Amino acid sequence: MRQTKQCPKCGSRDILYFANDGFMDSSSKGIAVGLTVFSNVNVERYICCGCGYTEQWVAKQDIEELRRSRKAMPIG
Ligand SMILES: [Zn+2]
Repeated sequence: MRQTKQCPKCGSRDILYFANDGFMDSSSKGIAVGLTVFSNVNVERYICCGCGYTEQWVAKQDIEELRRSRKAMPIG
């Protein structure tokens, strides 16, 4: 949705963008990768108002920090 400005599931163009707001995480903004609030990674979200599909993006410079998270589970 970030590139196409259109929902890949239902085709709607009624898309909302949220900068790192944290509303989908109960305890903190972004994804907690450490023990303190200072080690969170920013997450940008795109939400389709047509069907509720949500797309989330992490900045490339934050990906190595995510790899070090104890919660990370590589599936490849
Ligand atoms: Zn949709």
